Amino acid sequence: MMTKHDNLTTDIYASETMRHAAPVEKIPEKGTTPQIAYRMVKDETYAQTRPELNLATFVTTYMDEEATQLMNEAISINYIDETEYPRVAVMCGRCINILADLWNTPEKNTWKTGALGIGSSEACMLGGVAAWLRWRERRKQAGKPCDKPNLVMSSAYQVVWEKFCQLWQIELRTVPLTEECRTLDPEAAVKLCDENTICVVPICGVTWTGLNDDVEALDKALTKYHKESGNDIPIHVDAASGGFILPFIDPHKKWDFRLDRVLSISTSGHKYGLVYPGLGWVIWKDKQYLPKEMSFSVNYLGAEVTQVGLNFSRPAAQVLGQYYNFIRYGREGYKAVQEASMEVARYCHTEIGKMKCFANYSDKVENPLFIWKMCSTYEKTAKWTLYDLQDKLKQSGWMVPAYSMPANIEQTVVMRVVVRQGFSRDMADQLLTDIRNAVAEFEQLKYPTTSRLKLEKQEHQCGKVFTH
Ligand SMILES: *Cc1c(COP(=O)(O)O)cnc(C)c1O
Repeated sequence: MMTKHDNLTTDIYASETMRHAAPVEKIPEKGTTPQIAYRMVKDETYAQTRPELNLATFVTTYMDEEATQLMNEAISINYIDETEYPRVAVMCGRCINILADLWNTPEKNTWKTGALGIGSSEACMLGGVAAWLRWRERRKQAGKPCDKPNLVMSSAYQVVWEKFCQLWQIELRTVPLTEECRTLDPEAAVKLCDENTICVVPICGVTWTGLNDDVEALDKALTKYHKESGNDIPIHVDAASGGFILPFIDPHKKWDFRLDRVLSISTSGHKYGLVYPGLGWVIWKDKQYLPKEMSFSVNYLGAEVTQVGLNFSRPAAQVLGQYYNFIRYGREGYKAVQEASMEVARYCHTEIGKMKCFANYSDKVENPLFIWKMCSTYEKTAKWTLYDLQDKLKQSGWMVPAYSMPANIEQTVVMRVVVRQGFSRDMADQLLTDIRNAVAEFEQLKYPTTSRLKLEKQEHQCGKVFTH
Protein backbone atom coordinates (compact mmCIF):
# COMPACT_ATOMS: atom_id res chain seq x y z
CA MET A 1 0.00 0.00 0.00
CA MET A 2 1.17 3.53 -0.65
CA THR A 3 0.31 5.65 2.36
CA LYS A 4 0.51 9.38 2.90
CA HIS A 5 4.12 8.84 3.97
CA ASP A 6 5.04 7.37 0.59
CA ASN A 7 5.60 9.32 -2.57
CA LEU A 8 7.37 8.77 -5.85
CA THR A 9 10.75 9.51 -4.29
CA THR A 10 10.30 6.98 -1.50
CA ASP A 11 12.92 4.28 -1.63
CA ILE A 12 11.38 0.94 -2.60
CA TYR A 13 12.50 -0.87 0.53
CA ALA A 14 11.53 2.09 2.76
CA SER A 15 7.95 2.00 1.46
CA GLU A 16 4.99 0.98 3.61
CA THR A 17 4.33 -1.99 1.33
CA MET A 18 7.77 -3.43 1.86
CA ARG A 19 7.56 -2.86 5.60
CA HIS A 20 4.39 -4.94 5.84
CA ALA A 21 3.74 -8.61 5.28
CA ALA A 22 2.80 -9.62 1.73
CA PRO A 23 -0.93 -10.05 1.05
CA VAL A 24 -1.98 -13.62 1.73
CA GLU A 25 -5.70 -13.72 2.33
CA LYS A 26 -7.14 -10.48 0.98
CA ILE A 27 -6.51 -8.11 -1.87
CA PRO A 28 -4.84 -4.95 -0.46
CA GLU A 29 -7.17 -1.93 -0.25
CA LYS A 30 -4.73 0.36 -1.99
CA GLY A 31 -2.24 -0.31 -4.72
CA THR A 32 1.40 0.64 -4.88
CA THR A 33 3.90 1.78 -7.50
CA PRO A 34 4.94 -0.53 -10.35
CA GLN A 35 8.52 -0.51 -9.02
CA ILE A 36 7.49 -1.66 -5.56
CA ALA A 37 5.11 -4.33 -6.91
CA TYR A 38 7.82 -5.56 -9.26
CA ARG A 39 10.41 -5.87 -6.50
CA MET A 40 8.05 -7.62 -4.14
CA VAL A 41 7.09 -10.26 -6.70
CA LYS A 42 10.60 -10.57 -8.05
CA ASP A 43 12.02 -11.14 -4.59
CA GLU A 44 9.68 -14.10 -4.15
CA THR A 45 10.76 -15.78 -7.37
CA TYR A 46 14.39 -16.55 -6.68
CA ALA A 47 15.35 -20.07 -7.80
CA GLN A 48 16.44 -22.66 -5.27
CA THR A 49 19.10 -23.80 -7.72
CA ARG A 50 20.34 -22.42 -10.99
CA PRO A 51 17.85 -23.70 -13.58
CA GLU A 52 20.62 -25.33 -15.65
CA LEU A 53 21.76 -27.29 -12.58
CA ASN A 54 18.30 -28.76 -12.22
CA LEU A 55 18.84 -32.20 -13.71
CA ALA A 56 15.43 -33.36 -12.53
CA THR A 57 13.41 -31.48 -15.13
CA PHE A 58 13.04 -32.35 -18.80
CA VAL A 59 11.94 -28.85 -19.63
CA THR A 60 14.01 -26.36 -21.63
CA THR A 61 16.16 -23.99 -19.59
CA TYR A 62 18.20 -22.56 -22.45
CA MET A 63 17.14 -20.78 -25.63
CA ASP A 64 18.95 -18.35 -27.93
CA GLU A 65 18.68 -14.70 -26.97
CA GLU A 66 16.86 -14.01 -30.23
CA ALA A 67 14.31 -16.71 -29.43
CA THR A 68 13.83 -15.29 -25.96
CA GLN A 69 13.33 -11.82 -27.43
CA LEU A 70 10.86 -13.14 -30.00
CA MET A 71 8.86 -14.92 -27.33
CA ASN A 72 8.94 -11.97 -24.92
CA GLU A 73 7.68 -9.69 -27.67
CA ALA A 74 4.77 -12.08 -28.24
CA ILE A 75 3.83 -12.34 -24.58
CA SER A 76 0.52 -10.49 -25.07
CA ILE A 77 -0.62 -12.55 -28.04
CA ASN A 78 -3.53 -14.87 -27.42
CA TYR A 79 -3.15 -17.81 -29.77
CA ILE A 80 -6.89 -18.25 -30.16
CA ASP A 81 -7.33 -14.82 -31.76
CA GLU A 82 -6.67 -16.27 -35.19
CA THR A 83 -8.41 -13.42 -36.97
CA GLU A 84 -6.22 -10.84 -35.25
CA TYR A 85 -3.01 -12.82 -35.72
CA PRO A 86 -3.75 -15.03 -38.70
CA ARG A 87 -0.08 -15.81 -39.37
CA VAL A 88 0.35 -17.41 -35.95
CA ALA A 89 -2.24 -20.04 -36.83
CA VAL A 90 -0.45 -20.63 -40.12
CA MET A 91 2.85 -20.98 -38.25
CA CYS A 92 1.22 -23.53 -35.96
CA GLY A 93 0.02 -25.48 -39.02
CA ARG A 94 3.56 -25.44 -40.39
CA CYS A 95 4.94 -26.80 -37.10
CA ILE A 96 2.34 -29.59 -37.25
CA ASN A 97 3.38 -30.34 -40.85
CA ILE A 98 7.06 -30.44 -39.91
CA LEU A 99 6.46 -32.79 -36.97
CA ALA A 100 4.18 -35.03 -39.01
CA ASP A 101 6.94 -35.25 -41.62
CA LEU A 102 9.62 -35.99 -39.00
CA TRP A 103 7.37 -38.82 -37.81
CA ASN A 104 6.85 -40.12 -41.37
CA THR A 105 3.17 -39.38 -41.79
CA PRO A 106 1.49 -40.96 -44.82
CA GLU A 107 -1.16 -38.17 -44.84
CA LYS A 108 -1.67 -36.64 -48.27
CA ASN A 109 -3.52 -33.44 -47.24
CA THR A 110 -1.44 -30.26 -47.49
CA TRP A 111 -2.19 -29.43 -43.87
CA LYS A 112 -1.52 -32.47 -41.72
CA THR A 113 -3.81 -33.32 -38.82
CA GLY A 114 -2.65 -32.26 -35.38
CA ALA A 115 -3.11 -29.87 -32.50
CA LEU A 116 -1.01 -27.90 -30.07
CA GLY A 117 -1.31 -28.16 -26.33
CA ILE A 118 0.14 -26.61 -23.19
CA GLY A 119 2.37 -29.67 -22.88
CA SER A 120 2.40 -33.38 -23.55
CA SER A 121 -0.28 -33.74 -20.90
CA GLU A 122 -2.87 -31.94 -23.00
CA ALA A 123 -1.54 -33.65 -26.14
CA CYS A 124 -1.83 -37.11 -24.50
CA MET A 125 -5.37 -36.30 -23.36
CA LEU A 126 -6.36 -35.36 -26.92
CA GLY A 127 -4.79 -38.54 -28.32
CA GLY A 128 -6.55 -40.60 -25.65
CA VAL A 129 -9.94 -38.94 -26.17
CA ALA A 130 -9.69 -39.50 -29.93
CA ALA A 131 -8.94 -43.22 -29.38
CA TRP A 132 -11.84 -43.49 -26.95
CA LEU A 133 -14.31 -41.75 -29.34
CA ARG A 134 -13.21 -43.90 -32.30
CA TRP A 135 -13.63 -47.05 -30.20
CA ARG A 136 -17.06 -45.90 -29.02
CA GLU A 137 -18.20 -45.17 -32.55
CA ARG A 138 -17.11 -48.64 -33.70
CA ARG A 139 -18.89 -50.27 -30.78
CA LYS A 140 -22.08 -48.29 -31.45
CA GLN A 141 -22.02 -49.28 -35.11
CA ALA A 142 -21.72 -52.91 -34.06
CA GLY A 143 -24.55 -52.51 -31.53
CA LYS A 144 -22.25 -53.39 -28.64
CA PRO A 145 -22.03 -51.78 -25.19
CA CYS A 146 -19.51 -48.95 -24.70
CA ASP A 147 -19.57 -48.53 -20.95
CA LYS A 148 -16.32 -50.31 -20.04
CA PRO A 149 -13.42 -48.83 -22.01
CA ASN A 150 -9.86 -49.64 -20.97
CA LEU A 151 -6.33 -48.55 -21.89
CA VAL A 152 -3.16 -50.65 -21.68
CA MET A 153 0.38 -49.42 -20.95
CA SER A 154 3.37 -50.12 -18.72
CA SER A 155 3.34 -49.27 -15.02
CA ALA A 156 6.06 -46.69 -15.76
CA TYR A 157 3.45 -44.30 -17.15
CA GLN A 158 3.63 -40.57 -16.61
CA VAL A 159 0.95 -39.23 -14.26
CA VAL A 160 -1.04 -37.72 -17.16
CA TRP A 161 -2.34 -41.19 -18.07
CA GLU A 162 -3.68 -41.67 -14.59
CA LYS A 163 -5.39 -38.29 -14.94
CA PHE A 164 -6.78 -39.18 -18.36
CA CYS A 165 -8.18 -42.49 -17.17
CA GLN A 166 -9.61 -41.02 -13.98
CA LEU A 167 -11.21 -37.99 -15.64
CA TRP A 168 -12.72 -39.92 -18.56
CA GLN A 169 -13.51 -42.98 -16.44
CA ILE A 170 -11.42 -45.38 -18.45
CA GLU A 171 -9.90 -48.43 -16.79
CA LEU A 172 -6.08 -48.22 -16.70
CA ARG A 173 -4.54 -51.68 -17.17
CA THR A 174 -0.82 -51.76 -16.51
CA VAL A 175 1.94 -54.20 -17.34
CA PRO A 176 4.37 -54.09 -14.41
CA LEU A 177 8.07 -53.59 -15.11
CA THR A 178 10.24 -56.39 -13.73
CA GLU A 179 13.96 -56.72 -12.99
CA GLU A 180 14.29 -58.65 -16.26
CA CYS A 181 11.87 -56.70 -18.46
CA ARG A 182 12.72 -53.02 -18.17
CA THR A 183 10.27 -51.72 -20.79
CA LEU A 184 6.72 -52.60 -21.83
CA ASP A 185 6.51 -56.34 -22.58
CA PRO A 186 4.45 -56.56 -25.82
CA GLU A 187 3.15 -60.07 -25.08
CA ALA A 188 2.08 -59.11 -21.58
CA ALA A 189 0.38 -55.99 -22.98
CA VAL A 190 -1.59 -58.07 -25.49
CA LYS A 191 -2.73 -60.38 -22.68
CA LEU A 192 -4.42 -57.38 -21.03
CA CYS A 193 -6.26 -56.39 -24.23
CA ASP A 194 -9.84 -57.23 -25.08
CA GLU A 195 -12.70 -55.82 -27.18
CA ASN A 196 -12.93 -52.84 -24.81
CA THR A 197 -9.33 -51.68 -25.22
CA ILE A 198 -9.36 -48.21 -26.77
CA CYS A 199 -5.60 -48.23 -27.43
CA VAL A 200 -2.21 -49.35 -26.14
CA VAL A 201 0.20 -46.56 -25.19
CA PRO A 202 3.91 -47.30 -25.52
CA ILE A 203 6.32 -44.61 -24.36
CA CYS A 204 9.41 -43.32 -26.14
CA GLY A 205 11.56 -41.78 -23.45
CA VAL A 206 10.02 -43.35 -20.35
CA THR A 207 10.02 -40.69 -17.62
CA TRP A 208 11.17 -43.19 -14.98
CA THR A 209 14.02 -44.84 -16.90
CA GLY A 210 14.85 -42.91 -20.08
CA LEU A 211 14.34 -46.09 -22.14
CA ASN A 212 12.04 -46.62 -25.12
CA ASP A 213 9.23 -49.16 -25.24
CA ASP A 214 9.56 -51.35 -28.34
CA VAL A 215 6.76 -49.93 -30.48
CA GLU A 216 7.56 -52.11 -33.50
CA ALA A 217 7.33 -55.35 -31.49
CA LEU A 218 4.09 -54.13 -29.93
CA ASP A 219 2.70 -53.31 -33.38
CA LYS A 220 3.48 -56.87 -34.53
CA ALA A 221 2.04 -58.46 -31.41
CA LEU A 222 -1.19 -56.45 -31.77
CA THR A 223 -1.51 -57.43 -35.44
CA LYS A 224 -1.15 -61.11 -34.52
CA TYR A 225 -3.74 -60.58 -31.77
CA HIS A 226 -6.07 -58.89 -34.28
CA LYS A 227 -5.92 -61.95 -36.54
CA GLU A 228 -6.64 -64.30 -33.67
CA SER A 229 -9.30 -62.33 -31.80
CA GLY A 230 -10.78 -59.88 -34.30
CA ASN A 231 -9.99 -56.99 -31.92
CA ASP A 232 -8.31 -54.24 -33.90
CA ILE A 233 -6.40 -52.17 -31.35
CA PRO A 234 -4.56 -48.95 -32.29
CA ILE A 235 -1.45 -47.43 -30.72
CA HIS A 236 -0.93 -43.93 -29.37
CA VAL A 237 2.78 -43.26 -28.79
CA ASP A 238 3.60 -41.04 -25.82
CA ALA A 239 6.82 -39.58 -27.21
CA ALA A 240 7.07 -36.66 -24.79
CA SER A 241 10.88 -36.86 -24.94
CA GLY A 242 11.54 -39.36 -27.73
CA GLY A 243 9.48 -37.51 -30.33
CA PHE A 244 12.26 -34.96 -30.74
CA ILE A 245 15.13 -37.42 -30.17
CA LEU A 246 14.45 -40.45 -32.36
CA PRO A 247 13.99 -38.61 -35.70
CA PHE A 248 17.44 -37.07 -35.30
CA ILE A 249 19.42 -39.72 -33.41
CA ASP A 250 17.96 -42.92 -34.84
CA PRO A 251 15.98 -42.07 -38.01
CA HIS A 252 15.84 -45.71 -39.18
CA LYS A 253 14.20 -47.04 -36.06
CA LYS A 254 10.49 -47.68 -36.69
CA TRP A 255 8.40 -46.33 -33.84
CA ASP A 256 6.22 -43.79 -35.66
CA PHE A 257 3.61 -43.58 -38.44
CA ARG A 258 5.59 -46.11 -40.49
CA LEU A 259 3.96 -48.70 -38.22
CA ASP A 260 0.41 -49.81 -39.11
CA ARG A 261 -1.21 -49.36 -35.73
CA VAL A 262 0.30 -46.04 -34.71
CA LEU A 263 -2.58 -43.63 -35.28
CA SER A 264 -1.44 -40.76 -33.06
CA ILE A 265 1.74 -39.49 -31.41
CA SER A 266 2.25 -36.80 -28.78
CA THR A 267 5.36 -34.90 -27.73
CA SER A 268 6.47 -31.97 -25.59
CA GLY A 269 7.74 -28.96 -27.52
CA HIS A 270 9.20 -27.74 -24.23
CA LYS A 271 11.30 -30.86 -23.65
CA TYR A 272 13.63 -31.84 -26.49
CA GLY A 273 11.66 -29.56 -28.83
CA LEU A 274 13.93 -27.00 -27.13
CA VAL A 275 11.23 -24.38 -26.43
CA TYR A 276 10.51 -22.73 -23.08
CA PRO A 277 7.31 -24.05 -21.39
CA GLY A 278 4.51 -24.77 -22.08
CA LEU A 279 4.12 -26.43 -25.43
CA GLY A 280 2.93 -29.85 -26.54
CA TRP A 281 1.94 -31.41 -29.85
CA VAL A 282 -0.29 -34.25 -30.95
CA ILE A 283 -0.40 -35.51 -34.54
CA TRP A 284 -2.82 -37.99 -36.07
CA LYS A 285 -1.83 -40.28 -38.90
CA ASP A 286 -4.66 -38.90 -41.04
CA LYS A 287 -7.68 -36.63 -40.73
CA GLN A 288 -9.96 -39.69 -40.58
CA TYR A 289 -8.52 -40.62 -37.14
CA LEU A 290 -9.49 -37.31 -35.53
CA PRO A 291 -13.15 -37.69 -34.52
CA LYS A 292 -15.35 -34.84 -35.72
CA GLU A 293 -16.69 -34.32 -32.20
CA MET A 294 -13.28 -33.00 -31.18
CA SER A 295 -13.31 -29.96 -33.46
CA PHE A 296 -15.18 -26.95 -32.21
CA SER A 297 -16.10 -23.89 -34.23
CA VAL A 298 -16.74 -20.44 -32.81
CA ASN A 299 -17.91 -17.39 -34.73
CA TYR A 300 -17.34 -14.60 -32.21
CA LEU A 301 -13.70 -13.81 -32.94
CA GLY A 302 -14.33 -12.13 -36.28
CA ALA A 303 -14.58 -15.26 -38.41
CA GLU A 304 -15.42 -18.94 -38.15
CA VAL A 305 -12.51 -20.45 -36.17
CA THR A 306 -12.17 -24.21 -35.73
CA GLN A 307 -10.10 -25.52 -32.89
CA VAL A 308 -9.07 -28.81 -31.30
CA GLY A 309 -7.90 -28.56 -27.69
CA LEU A 310 -8.89 -28.70 -24.05
CA ASN A 311 -7.98 -25.06 -23.51
CA PHE A 312 -9.34 -22.08 -25.41
CA SER A 313 -7.12 -19.01 -24.84
CA ARG A 314 -3.46 -19.84 -24.73
CA PRO A 315 -0.13 -18.07 -25.24
CA ALA A 316 1.18 -17.87 -28.80
CA ALA A 317 4.79 -17.19 -27.87
CA GLN A 318 5.72 -20.89 -27.69
CA VAL A 319 4.52 -21.50 -31.24
CA LEU A 320 6.81 -18.71 -32.38
CA GLY A 321 9.62 -20.29 -30.35
CA GLN A 322 9.05 -23.70 -31.94
CA TYR A 323 8.93 -22.34 -35.46
CA TYR A 324 12.02 -20.23 -34.73
CA ASN A 325 13.87 -23.38 -33.61
CA PHE A 326 12.92 -25.28 -36.76
CA ILE A 327 14.29 -22.44 -38.89
CA ARG A 328 17.28 -21.73 -36.69
CA TYR A 329 18.52 -25.31 -36.20
CA GLY A 330 17.22 -27.19 -39.19
CA ARG A 331 17.51 -30.96 -39.21
CA GLU A 332 21.29 -30.75 -38.87
CA GLY A 333 21.16 -28.37 -35.94
CA TYR A 334 18.60 -30.43 -34.02
CA LYS A 335 20.71 -33.52 -34.70
CA ALA A 336 23.84 -31.77 -33.40
CA VAL A 337 22.14 -30.47 -30.24
CA GLN A 338 20.53 -33.84 -29.43
CA GLU A 339 23.77 -35.70 -30.18
CA ALA A 340 25.68 -33.39 -27.87
CA SER A 341 23.17 -34.14 -25.09
CA MET A 342 23.39 -37.88 -25.83
CA GLU A 343 27.18 -37.71 -25.68
CA VAL A 344 27.18 -36.02 -22.27
CA ALA A 345 24.53 -38.45 -21.00
CA ARG A 346 26.55 -41.48 -22.18
CA TYR A 347 29.68 -40.03 -20.61
CA CYS A 348 27.98 -39.57 -17.23
CA HIS A 349 26.41 -43.03 -17.57
CA THR A 350 29.83 -44.63 -18.15
CA GLU A 351 31.54 -42.71 -15.36
CA ILE A 352 28.81 -43.46 -12.84
CA GLY A 353 28.88 -47.13 -13.93
CA LYS A 354 32.59 -47.21 -13.04
CA MET A 355 32.01 -46.15 -9.42
CA LYS A 356 31.97 -49.21 -7.24
CA CYS A 357 28.99 -48.09 -5.20
CA PHE A 358 26.70 -47.70 -8.22
CA ALA A 359 25.15 -49.86 -10.92
CA ASN A 360 23.42 -48.49 -13.98
CA TYR A 361 19.80 -49.58 -14.38
CA SER A 362 20.40 -50.41 -18.05
CA ASP A 363 23.43 -50.72 -20.34
CA LYS A 364 21.56 -48.67 -22.91
CA VAL A 365 21.21 -44.91 -23.11
CA GLU A 366 18.44 -44.32 -25.65
CA ASN A 367 17.52 -40.76 -24.76
CA PRO A 368 19.72 -38.14 -23.09
CA LEU A 369 18.75 -39.34 -19.61
CA PHE A 370 19.47 -42.37 -17.50
CA ILE A 371 19.04 -43.80 -14.02
CA TRP A 372 21.30 -45.73 -11.71
CA LYS A 373 20.99 -47.45 -8.37
CA MET A 374 23.23 -48.50 -5.56
CA CYS A 375 25.13 -51.66 -6.42
CA SER A 376 23.47 -54.52 -4.50
CA THR A 377 26.60 -55.80 -2.75
CA TYR A 378 27.62 -52.28 -1.75
CA GLU A 379 24.10 -51.54 -0.56
CA LYS A 380 24.23 -54.37 1.99
CA THR A 381 26.77 -52.53 4.15
CA ALA A 382 26.33 -48.89 3.10
CA LYS A 383 25.51 -46.33 5.77
CA TRP A 384 23.81 -43.96 3.34
CA THR A 385 21.21 -43.91 0.59
CA LEU A 386 20.68 -42.13 -2.70
CA TYR A 387 18.36 -39.75 -0.84
CA ASP A 388 21.39 -38.62 1.18
CA LEU A 389 23.28 -38.11 -2.04
CA GLN A 390 20.41 -36.00 -3.41
CA ASP A 391 20.58 -33.79 -0.31
CA LYS A 392 24.35 -33.51 -0.47
CA LEU A 393 24.34 -32.51 -4.13
CA LYS A 394 21.70 -29.92 -3.43
CA GLN A 395 24.22 -28.14 -1.22
CA SER A 396 26.35 -27.53 -4.31
CA GLY A 397 23.33 -26.33 -6.27
CA TRP A 398 22.48 -29.55 -8.14
CA MET A 399 19.02 -31.00 -8.32
CA VAL A 400 19.43 -34.73 -8.96
CA PRO A 401 16.33 -36.61 -7.84
CA ALA A 402 16.32 -39.97 -6.05
CA TYR A 403 13.06 -41.89 -6.15
CA SER A 404 11.59 -45.36 -5.84
CA MET A 405 10.52 -47.25 -8.97
CA PRO A 406 6.88 -47.98 -9.88
CA ALA A 407 4.79 -50.85 -8.51
CA ASN A 408 6.37 -54.30 -8.53
CA ILE A 409 9.95 -52.98 -8.37
CA GLU A 410 9.17 -50.20 -5.92
CA GLN A 411 11.85 -51.42 -3.50
CA THR A 412 14.45 -50.23 -6.02
CA VAL A 413 15.63 -46.68 -5.34
CA VAL A 414 17.24 -44.91 -8.27
CA MET A 415 18.72 -41.58 -9.18
CA ARG A 416 18.16 -39.82 -12.50
CA VAL A 417 20.05 -37.31 -14.60
CA VAL A 418 18.30 -35.58 -17.49
CA VAL A 419 20.82 -33.97 -19.85
CA ARG A 420 19.50 -31.02 -21.82
CA GLN A 421 20.92 -28.36 -24.10
CA GLY A 422 22.96 -26.14 -21.77
CA PHE A 423 24.55 -29.02 -19.84
CA SER A 424 28.09 -29.25 -21.14
CA ARG A 425 30.83 -31.83 -20.71
CA ASP A 426 32.55 -29.42 -18.32
CA MET A 427 29.43 -29.21 -16.15
CA ALA A 428 29.17 -33.01 -16.26
CA ASP A 429 32.72 -33.21 -14.90
CA GLN A 430 31.79 -30.83 -12.09
CA LEU A 431 28.77 -32.96 -11.26
CA LEU A 432 30.82 -36.18 -11.28
CA THR A 433 33.43 -34.59 -9.00
CA ASP A 434 30.70 -33.49 -6.60
CA ILE A 435 29.26 -37.03 -6.62
CA ARG A 436 32.68 -38.62 -5.97
CA ASN A 437 33.39 -36.18 -3.14
CA ALA A 438 29.98 -36.82 -1.59
CA VAL A 439 30.52 -40.59 -1.71
CA ALA A 440 34.01 -40.25 -0.18
CA GLU A 441 32.43 -38.27 2.65
CA PHE A 442 29.65 -40.84 3.17
CA GLU A 443 32.23 -43.59 3.38
CA GLN A 444 33.70 -41.93 6.45
CA LEU A 445 30.37 -42.20 8.29
CA LYS A 446 30.49 -44.08 11.57
CA TYR A 447 26.74 -44.41 11.92
CA PRO A 448 24.00 -44.95 9.35
CA THR A 449 22.06 -41.86 8.24
CA THR A 450 18.41 -41.37 9.17
CA SER A 451 17.36 -42.15 5.64
CA ARG A 452 19.39 -45.39 5.70
CA LEU A 453 17.76 -46.45 8.98
CA LYS A 454 14.35 -45.72 7.51
CA LEU A 455 15.15 -47.78 4.43
CA GLU A 456 16.39 -50.69 6.54
CA LYS A 457 13.19 -50.65 8.53
CA GLN A 458 11.10 -50.81 5.34
CA GLU A 459 13.31 -53.41 3.72
CA HIS A 460 13.36 -55.54 6.84
CA GLN A 461 9.61 -55.90 6.46
CA CYS A 462 10.18 -57.25 2.93
CA GLY A 463 12.76 -59.74 4.18
CA LYS A 464 15.89 -58.02 2.87
CA VAL A 465 18.90 -58.36 5.17
CA PHE A 466 21.42 -55.62 5.88
CA THR A 467 24.58 -55.63 7.92
CA HIS A 468 26.91 -52.87 8.99
C1 LIG B 1 6.80 -35.16 -19.35
C2 LIG B 1 5.96 -36.28 -19.80
C3 LIG B 1 4.57 -36.14 -19.95
C4 LIG B 1 3.87 -34.86 -19.57
O1 LIG B 1 4.36 -33.85 -20.35
P1 LIG B 1 4.17 -32.29 -20.03
O2 LIG B 1 4.73 -31.69 -21.25
O3 LIG B 1 4.97 -32.02 -18.81
O4 LIG B 1 2.73 -32.04 -19.83
C5 LIG B 1 3.86 -37.20 -20.45
N1 LIG B 1 4.46 -38.35 -20.76
C6 LIG B 1 5.79 -38.55 -20.61
C7 LIG B 1 6.38 -39.87 -20.99
C8 LIG B 1 6.58 -37.52 -20.12
O5 LIG B 1 7.90 -37.71 -19.96
